[in-house]
Amino acid sequence: MVAAEQPVALKLDSEIVTIHTRHPFIIARGGRSEYQVLLVRLTDGDGLVGWGEAYPSSYYGESIPGVQDAFRAAAGALPADPMNLEGAERRFLEVAPRSAAARAALSIALHDLFGKRLGQPLWRLWGLDAGKTPRSSFTIGIDTPEKMRAKVLEAADYDILKIKLGTDHDEDLLRTIRDATDKPIRVDANAAWTRERALAMLPVLKEFGVDLLEQPLVPDDLDGLRAVRRASPGIPIVVDESCLVATDIPKVAGAVDGINIKLAKCGSLREALRMIATARAHGMLVMVGCMIETSVAITAAAHFTPLVDVADLDGAALTVDDPFTGARIDRGAIVLPTEPGLGVVRR
Ligand code: MG
Repeated sequence: MVAAEQPVALKLDSEIVTIHTRHPFIIARGGRSEYQVLLVRLTDGDGLVGWGEAYPSSYYGESIPGVQDAFRAAAGALPADPMNLEGAERRFLEVAPRSAAARAALSIALHDLFGKRLGQPLWRLWGLDAGKTPRSSFTIGIDTPEKMRAKVLEAADYDILKIKLGTDHDEDLLRTIRDATDKPIRVDANAAWTRERALAMLPVLKEFGVDLLEQPLVPDDLDGLRAVRRASPGIPIVVDESCLVATDIPKVAGAVDGINIKLAKCGSLREALRMIATARAHGMLVMVGCMIETSVAITAAAHFTPLVDVADLDGAALTVDDPFTGARIDRGAIVLPTEPGLGVVRR
């Protein structure tokens, strides 16, 4: 832990943690099995600790040094009143505008402290029903047919599978999965298809019982997304890479059916709640997703899942060395902690 100098009651420390997935996690843009995330720890004057986590996604222009720079900037702008979440987040946006990942970590840590100070879990402070969490899917990355069949077996505890596509043999990948299971399948093409390819794949997705299609096209091809949605045989089209923050939602509304919220993209739990409200105002489906992250970031997102329709929060479940416990996925069901704050504990 490297302590940052700052005069207010809160103290900020951060560290880099390396986590590993059970299998190399391959999507259309590539993949690997080793991931580095940054943990942040905010300690208040009473010795209470709030944990946060940043996933530095190179796709979104983030890096470990970039997150560390943002933490240094934020260490000089920590709120005098740690309960002033709105003020704190506005200040973080001013001092660290380029790192949503770092701001998400700080937001998560402040919310953890907030709950601990009030003695309640976050979901309860938001007035949510922990019994209303959606079931989480389990993601199967691009792999050989044998490995994909093995992963279907490993996902025995999950009722819903999410398959990464965007190869020249997507039909074969889908057939491999469908031959191995009759569970609902969701597909994420991670922006890898052309319009023509997406339109050609729609009947194939229908044939294999796919019930949701995420990001078929490049993020800014809204006309293409609109055309895919129009041609879809009842499969909802959800955007992830096209929609980072609440102000992106009016732009994609009408072109697609739903949005995928990720804390690492939107940079704050409060922004995630604004995204849900904005999407609902546009009559859209709301999904929450994740990166390959520890139970700190996954649990933070899990707390607002009673407000969403679709959850894909398997990031920590895909790892073999999650350094935290927190929200659990029990036979596909998201089980929220009842401890104050996030309810995460370092192993
Ligand atoms: Mg996605």
